Amino acid sequence: MASVFRSKARPTIHEFDLIRAIHQRHSRRTSSVIRGIGDDAAVITSPASQWTVLTTDLLTEGVHFDLRTATMADIGFRAAAANLSDIAAMGATPRYLLVSLAIPRTGTSRHVHQLYRGMMAACLPHHVALIGGDTSASDSGWFLSLTLVGTVPPRKALFRNGARIGDYLYVTGTIGDSLTGLRLLSEPTPRTKRRSRTALLSTKHRQFLIGRHLRPTARLAEGRWLSANRFATSAIDLSDGLSGDLRHICEDSHVGVEVDLSALPLSPACRAYAAARKLDPVDLALTGGEDYELLFTVSPRQCRQLEQSAIEQGFSITCIGTIRRYRFGMQALTSHGVRRRLAITSYEHFM
Ligand code: ADP
Ligand code: MG
Repeated sequence: MASVFRSKARPTIHEFDLIRAIHQRHSRRTSSVIRGIGDDAAVITSPASQWTVLTTDLLTEGVHFDLRTATMADIGFRAAAANLSDIAAMGATPRYLLVSLAIPRTGTSRHVHQLYRGMMAACLPHHVALIGGDTSASDSGWFLSLTLVGTVPPRKALFRNGARIGDYLYVTGTIGDSLTGLRLLSEPTPRTKRRSRTALLSTKHRQFLIGRHLRPTARLAEGRWLSANRFATSAIDLSDGLSGDLRHICEDSHVGVEVDLSALPLSPACRAYAAARKLDPVDLALTGGEDYELLFTVSPRQCRQLEQSAIEQGFSITCIGTIRRYRFGMQALTSHGVRRRLAITSYEHFM
């Protein structure tokens, strides 16, 4: 404990001081936390009769994030949003956060606080309490691991394996925006004089798409609504991309699916980007990951009630397909009425 990180670029980061500063600046008192940061382990009271939901994510610099296209605060926000989204996809409420961090030699305490500011900005609206973590030095870039603890009423958790033949497939919000935002960030900065391709996209659309990539929204209210009303027979969050995440529902539920490509919810900004680049926006929606929308299935008996309730709640949901027999496989119906196999195009880190 209280080891010292030596750095040639900067003198030192004292682990003890850093943890104390993290505690002071980024954690808050909550009545259910008996002991937060500062002891050997955190202690919380568990509400009787609730199920506990746990999720963890490991993010590696160069693999999951790039400091050339995102600030430390963006990286923290996105990491927290990804974990919050996993809790949302279970129909649960997030409660507690643990953060493990490996800091490279070039890392400063300022970087660390920016990272935490981003993480807590995503968590604060949901009253998630930071209760602990671990800190290490790193010889090769940043490593960030988040563990989120949530609760859900018994038997209300949403799983991937409950889809039934005849169910309808729905998605929240719009899809493809995050990939489009990342593409915008990765493009070389346009020269001011030359009328660049970027100029074809309005500043409003650009900002929307980049915002969707750097500051995604976890659909917690929607997830809880789906579970509390028992609307969804299965659910998953869109982290790898529609086709890849849909495959998980199909395999785990042992069913097939027909997706109506003309029904995919695309934002005006994503459509504008695709038009400016002469791309098919449907491809962006199918292949793009990290939208953190919820993909879920609903029994036909429940659809009317679901759609009525969504309007009342102000939730954006779209029906994009139907669950079929397993042997049907995964198929897409194009806008020309042609059926084709739905290619799995999700992003895999180990390919
Ligand atoms: P130990 O040696 O038992 O692992 P530490 O000195 O690593 O203890 O941690 C002391 C306290 O600080 C613990 O409550 C731990 O959860 C918390 N902590 C350590 N690193 C972090 C971090 N990066 N973020 C939040 N809390 C942390
Ligand atoms: Mg430790």
